[in-house]
Amino acid sequence: MTGAPDAIVPGLYGLVGGAVNVYVLDGGDAGLIVFDAGLPRGQNAILDLVRRLGRVPQDVKHILITHGDIDHIGGLKGLHAATGAPITASAASREYIEQPRNPPHVPLPMTVLAGLLAHTVRGTAPVAKEVRDGDVLDLAGGLRVIATPGHTADHISYFWERERVLIAGDALNTLGEGLRSTQPRITWNMQAAYQSIERLLALEPAVICCGHGQVWRASEDTGRLAALRAQIRGDQEK
Ligand SMILES: [Zn+2]
Repeated sequence: MTGAPDAIVPGLYGLVGGAVNVYVLDGGDAGLIVFDAGLPRGQNAILDLVRRLGRVPQDVKHILITHGDIDHIGGLKGLHAATGAPITASAASREYIEQPRNPPHVPLPMTVLAGLLAHTVRGTAPVAKEVRDGDVLDLAGGLRVIATPGHTADHISYFWERERVLIAGDALNTLGEGLRSTQPRITWNMQAAYQSIERLLALEPAVICCGHGQVWRASEDTGRLAALRAQIRGDQEK
């Protein structure tokens, strides 16, 4: 890919619509902030995006992780090596990032494959900063950490308060007919997932950047958050 990338909102860019999404936020004085690291070898596409922004790998100053699935931390070792940027994650994600292990939640064949990849091509990287629910990172006007267990137990999301942008990881996706919750077959605990999503929806995000699918915008889908909230309440009562 060549040329300057389009911004999702001013200052926020993404590799969106492929196997897994990665987002890059220009934090001004804080440098570039990368959310998740894609599949194994995914660092190459991320570094390409950084260059298309007219920047160099060393301009990446923070790597923020939502959860320890291989499609979100596959490129992390390489991204960390190329940028030198410290890695921020939940305490529970640390064991998946620093060891060749995967969070349990997907069907057995995928677990076996992810384990194999973790041991071979993924590698490990050190977590520099552990974050927990309610922490606000002093970056780009404030990035709030929200514990969102469900899809996996270690899952966290980030809310960029200034622009009301939610980096939702795999708590939500847009792979179906619009915005929806993580689906049962890939979810560690569905009840926990629903509770987490209710907390995310209560933030009334203007933009939701999911790990999979397209970027969701409230301005283009009025009423969706209320509808999703009602649907989740209904599913919980079943
Ligand atoms: Zn995941």
